[in-house]
Amino acid sequence: FMSGRILDGKQIAAEIREEVGRDVAAFVAAGNPAPCLAAVLVGEDPASQVYVRNKARACEKAGIEGRTHRLAADCGQKHLMDLVAQLNADPSVNGILVQLPLPNPSGGPSYDERAVLDAVDPLKDVDAFSPINVGLLMQGRPRFLPCTPHGIVQLLARCDISVAGKQVCVVGRSDIVGKPMAMMLAQKDGTCGPAVANATVTLAHSRTEDLAAVCRTADCLIAAVGRPEMITADMVKPGAVVIDVGINRVGEKLVGDVAYDTVREVASAITPVPGGVGPLTIAMLLHNTLMAAKLQCAQS
Ligand code: NDP
Repeated sequence: FMSGRILDGKQIAAEIREEVGRDVAAFVAAGNPAPCLAAVLVGEDPASQVYVRNKARACEKAGIEGRTHRLAADCGQKHLMDLVAQLNADPSVNGILVQLPLPNPSGGPSYDERAVLDAVDPLKDVDAFSPINVGLLMQGRPRFLPCTPHGIVQLLARCDISVAGKQVCVVGRSDIVGKPMAMMLAQKDGTCGPAVANATVTLAHSRTEDLAAVCRTADCLIAAVGRPEMITADMVKPGAVVIDVGINRVGEKLVGDVAYDTVREVASAITPVPGGVGPLTIAMLLHNTLMAAKLQCAQS
């Protein structure tokens, strides 16, 4: 069997960012202010700092204003909620992103993450975490698509990979990745992207019995677990498409949830880590921010 084709997420993300940049320029040329994304970073988690910095940089490159609000790890729930309320009310802010996870300082205040996400104005909810946006997605009439699953949709579509009628197994059921991904793949028509309608979806998790056998039924396997290289070649059907969402730091190295070298030999296509799903997540955040600006422009 030939080694699988590498799905170049970095390249596709660059294309999408360029497209968004062009659309932003046209939006501004039509007399609108540049779209603005406000990121809220609580505490000093190094990974979160890198993510927020990368998002702000990507915004600027696409002509979107990126504002970062940094709060101390012990600022407390009320302070954070007040900031969200202020950003909701600020007409110059189109998108709001609260970087997760919120810190859990020992002896300090703990945060109610759900309450914070629930407080974000659904029209500014570019992560699509608010219950109204999750509900709209579930019903097949999404407003914003969550960035990581949407990035995977774009990757599949732009690589001409269709999952219609196929068995897709999503491993991991988080609210951020696995659960919305499964829902998007199972939609009846193309509301969540043309490449992702009509899949037969299995949603696997830590309580799944004989995970390897379940994974082996999949024509397309999407791993969003957070365990380094846990998907091994014996869990993959020969010729399957393998999408690796995992970002795990092992020593100095970043590795995915998939044992890349050996799985590549059985898969027909595979995403690398880094350079696969990660860059697409940021590209879709830019897309959602422009969409938010257009929505708010239409409302006012
Ligand atoms: P969560 O920790 O929220 O969820 C992990 C899921 O994996 C849970 O549903 C859990 O099951 C399941 N799981 C854990 N262990 C096993 C196991 N042994 N067998 C089967 N299932 C298991 O993670 P996220 O969804 O937030 O993130 C997953 C990975 O993706 C992480 O590495 C994260 O860094 C990465 N990520 C990457 C992004 C990107 O842009 N590329 C964006 C977001 C995340 P249960 O529900 O039963 O506990």
